[in-house]
Amino acid sequence: MTHRRRYRYVEMSLAPDPAADPYTVRATCLTCAEQSPEPEPSESITGQHQRAQRWCTSHAARDHSDGRHLRYTAHVTLRWLVTPAEDIGPVAP
Ligand SMILES: [Zn+2]
Repeated sequence: MTHRRRYRYVEMSLAPDPAADPYTVRATCLTCAEQSPEPEPSESITGQHQRAQRWCTSHAARDHSDGRHLRYTAHVTLRWLVTPAEDIGPVAP
């Protein structure tokens, strides 16, 4: 049995999701996996970035029993919403 599918072109736009915090910046210690605190949503992305960096330097200054923790990753999360120009079916829950 064959299924026929119809395809059509639908214009879509992508923008920050108004139902979510538009961005978050957090750092993770690669030695112990501890994370910088959840940022305040009202804080600018630059402010969140600086706060995460300050967390890294204070975490490195801490006297951990296994030695200094000097390696980190930064995670920048951007929340986006796709808006189709016409109805393309139900939205997943
Ligand atoms: Zn650590």
